[in-house]
Amino acid sequence: MRKLLKKIASTLVCAIALAHQAYAQSILRDAETEAFLHEISDPIFIAAGLDPRSVNIYLLSDPSLNAFVTGGQNIFIHSGLIMASDDVNQLLGVIAHETGHIAGGHLVGIRDAASTAGNFSILSLVLGAAAIAAGSPDAGIGLLAAGQTVAQRQFLAFNRVQESSADQAGAKYLNELGISGKGLIQFFDKLRDQEVLAYIRQDPYIRSHPLNRTRILSLEQVLGQSEYYNKPPNPKHNEQFNRLKAKLQGYIQRPSDTLKEYPLSDKTASARYARVYAYHKALEWDLALSEADALIEQEPANPYFHEIKGQILFENGKVREALPVFRQAVERAPRAPLVATALGQAMVSLEDDVLMAEAIPILENATRQDPGNTFAWFNLAKAYSWVGREADANLATAERFYSAGVVYQAVGYAKRAMDSFKTGSPEWLRAQDIFFIARDAAERQRKQQRRRRRFDVEFTGQQEFQKQQEQHWQYQP
Ligand SMILES: [Zn+2]
Repeated sequence: MRKLLKKIASTLVCAIALAHQAYAQSILRDAETEAFLHEISDPIFIAAGLDPRSVNIYLLSDPSLNAFVTGGQNIFIHSGLIMASDDVNQLLGVIAHETGHIAGGHLVGIRDAASTAGNFSILSLVLGAAAIAAGSPDAGIGLLAAGQTVAQRQFLAFNRVQESSADQAGAKYLNELGISGKGLIQFFDKLRDQEVLAYIRQDPYIRSHPLNRTRILSLEQVLGQSEYYNKPPNPKHNEQFNRLKAKLQGYIQRPSDTLKEYPLSDKTASARYARVYAYHKALEWDLALSEADALIEQEPANPYFHEIKGQILFENGKVREALPVFRQAVERAPRAPLVATALGQAMVSLEDDVLMAEAIPILENATRQDPGNTFAWFNLAKAYSWVGREADANLATAERFYSAGVVYQAVGYAKRAMDSFKTGSPEWLRAQDIFFIARDAAERQRKQQRRRRRFDVEFTGQQEFQKQQEQHWQYQP
């Protein structure tokens, strides 16, 4: 179990094995992917008049084709959408369209579960995976399931006017940035055939973003007029995209499938990246290491190659060897809190006085940049406790439960922290904030759970009905 938890807490924080029991959906957190998604999307957000720092992009582990937005400027992208995209422009087209929904304020009018229930539900969807990683798997699964319901509630939300306005807005952003919109058309083409399918067999994207001929035709017209229509994707971004797709594939697929798709004869960085993950997954540590070393030799300045090598060593129990490798990664990516967390975790797990003291500022920095990083809070609390800073440890644990949406524990630890800090001090005030917010959220959650039980029954009923309809059609003479 310990080993399993460690594995889940790896760089790509994910809970595939555990989450399958409830919902096959969890947040995939990976420093490189997150940095890449922002690098390619930030110009679009700026073109839309949004502050890129306030737009969050999350990658969900889900094989279906989908992307959706929720209140609070969150864009969710299914891993299935990345896998199905042939180049970076197809992904960019979808992101531009989703940005059109955000900038157009389309979420304001709908019955947005995230706003009525407070941001807590969506926060729990986002951080459920992190909660599992932090050692509370039961809470994690519960939270993931809850979040899923929130997302489902918001499906079917956009109407035709909103769809075409998001299309037009997306086309405008792409054009302003000199990016071809062909990718968006190609993406819609993939979905076109699904229009006639029964609801249950469609990809969720079709349900949340209704397609129709008129819409595609008018989009084709607008995008086709652009002088950039036949311009190929940015080569650097496309290469990065291919690598991340390979990495994702190696991480998600069965190792045997990955190795078939990326045979040893393929020496490109993408293929090696896919194989690192495939071997890693198959517990073939030596093979994984030799591929990681080959990548580092090819590009010594790439922080993520060092990061994955460190991760392989760490998970193989070679923590002391992992340490200098993680340091190299952090040196090359000083502003990547997930990479810093990996280093901090390795330091804390060695239970050494000097390293514990060194880990504290590293993890404090990581939590400052990424306050929802439950795993960083977990390790920071451990380090505080080791050096005898119990009050700080309580506050860090309150933060950890708070950001994971585990409200009851957050209330308890916030109370303990309040009791141990001087009244009115900044730490005491922070503990008090968590205490009140988490207490209110606990109350709301209780009420919501009662309502949600009713909703789930309705939703399952609807699915059953669709299934019957489908069978009915199939058996018609
Ligand atoms: Zn849409």
